[in-house]
Amino acid sequence: MSAERIDGKAFAAKLRERVGAQANTFAEQTGRKPGLAVVLVGEDPASEVYVRAKGKATIAAGMASFEHRLAADTDQQTLIDLVERLNADEAVDGILVQLPLPKHLDEKAVIATIDPNKDVDGITPTNAGRLVLGMDTLVSCTPLGCLLLLRDLFDDLSGLDAVVIGRSILFGKPMAQLLLSENCTVTMAHSRTRDLKSLLRRADIVVAAVGVPNLIRGDWLKPGSVVLDGGINRLDPEPGEAKGRIVGDVAYDEATEHVRAITPVPGGVGATTIAVLLRNTLVAAYRNEGLEVLQDL
Ligand code: NAP
Repeated sequence: MSAERIDGKAFAAKLRERVGAQANTFAEQTGRKPGLAVVLVGEDPASEVYVRAKGKATIAAGMASFEHRLAADTDQQTLIDLVERLNADEAVDGILVQLPLPKHLDEKAVIATIDPNKDVDGITPTNAGRLVLGMDTLVSCTPLGCLLLLRDLFDDLSGLDAVVIGRSILFGKPMAQLLLSENCTVTMAHSRTRDLKSLLRRADIVVAAVGVPNLIRGDWLKPGSVVLDGGINRLDPEPGEAKGRIVGDVAYDEATEHVRAITPVPGGVGATTIAVLLRNTLVAAYRNEGLEVLQDL
């Protein structure tokens, strides 16, 4: 069997188009653009790349982008003060504090300061709680991107066995909650899980949110299953390569021999995240204005 390659880039391009069209409508209705503020503390090169990409995509979608770059030694109160100013700023609909923060900062306290109505990463205690309670809320971008990809592949997710590997607050935990809300039977695996292989043998859906290159082998997967590989792992460079290749958590070539469909890395799950961030910003903008979102996003 050779699996369908789930094209995250194409999916994201369509979502960005819908969001861009509706951002224009929002601007006509309200006289202002939806606004996204991104806060970066320090100079982590990977975070720099993400922040630049987010700023570019925000502007391309017809939204206002506000970037706040703070020195690596910024103190807690300065960061909290900035978040509070963004909470109060009517031009800002979404606030994203790029994680991880430098070690001396209290990440949980910073996250808890973000206004839940502007929490486009879905990580404030309020929004995480709303997700668990099955209430409408802003949901973390990468797991929501995974769910949107799955909805494209299945008419109904109800009753399917899903295994989520990884339990981070940004990815694994909200992913499991979203699948539970779709009436999947959800198992969460993590580093202490005893027999991952046997869990995967019965999974119709696998979401890998680990960060270990090629951890999941092809013959562990149930024939005909669907695999969303969220891992982004850089291998050591081969001789002659300047940089190592980026691979996922799933041994892709092996998996394609067993499964029905799988996301590649890169070009799969990771490609959807920024598009979903723009979607969340637009949804937040409509809600902050007390208006209904017109299109199904
Ligand atoms: P994280 O916070 O480091 O969490 C990793 C999770 O994997 C933990 O829950 C850990 O278990 C579990 N784990 C580690 N080794 C394992 C093993 N051998 N077997 C089973 N589970 C294991 O990472 P994250 O932020 O969720 O990110 C996970 C991956 O997704 C990374 O590669 C990251 O780059 C990628 N990611 C991609 C996007 C995107 O596409 N835009 C966004 C976010 C993350 P314990 O809890 O027991 O330690």
